[in-house]
Amino acid sequence: MNIILLGPPGAGKGTQAKTLVEQTGLTHVSSGDLFRAALREGTELGMLAKSYMDRGALVPDDVVIGMVMERVEQPDCTNGVIFDGFPRTIDQAIALQNEMAKHNKRIDAVVYLNVPKEILLRRIAGRQTCRTCGAIFNIYYFPSYKPGICDVCGGKLYQRSDDTMETAHRRLDVYFEQTMPLIDYYRKQGSLREIDGCQEINQVSESMMIALGVNV
Ligand code: AMP
Repeated sequence: MNIILLGPPGAGKGTQAKTLVEQTGLTHVSSGDLFRAALREGTELGMLAKSYMDRGALVPDDVVIGMVMERVEQPDCTNGVIFDGFPRTIDQAIALQNEMAKHNKRIDAVVYLNVPKEILLRRIAGRQTCRTCGAIFNIYYFPSYKPGICDVCGGKLYQRSDDTMETAHRRLDVYFEQTMPLIDYYRKQGSLREIDGCQEINQVSESMMIALGVNV
């Protein structure tokens, strides 16, 4: 099974992807995580991506497509992938579809996490991620028990450099302009499953499992 998690920044794609991985055993492929890993490793790709990420802009299609396609060729992706943050443009969606078809695969479902803009800004600007295990918290909606410390593993929490209020505004504008058209694109293909992303985290997970027909 290959699934796309679609939705604006702050909709909870990363959080829900973790649950989906636990429930399905599929491999999580997040384009944003791949860029952040490249940046940590100090590669050329990482440096290039940073110049776009810091502005809240999209990395050019050819760069993202090349990176994600290379990732899905890895053996751990054979049984299925949860795409998170990719595709973000129609051109990326077409490239993904063509690549899948070459390997006799297809996108089975697109889960769209719908959250209104007013809620997204606080979700993005309040987000904190654990450096050690990647768990995600939010200082407004879902704070860790001890400030700055991960409840799961005791690691240190940090704020992503592109999660400031200013960059959040720009990322949302980019989303509404360039990524929103994908909703109609997948709706027309009949693969879109819309979920109310404003529910409690567990309820969102439950709705997602039901929409995907995954038995928990
Ligand atoms: P994310 O972690 O998904 O919010 O992505 C963080 C940043 O990485 C985005 O704001 C973009 O600058 C870049 N990025 C991630 N995925 C893509 C993509 N599919 N297309 C273009 N840029 C991307």
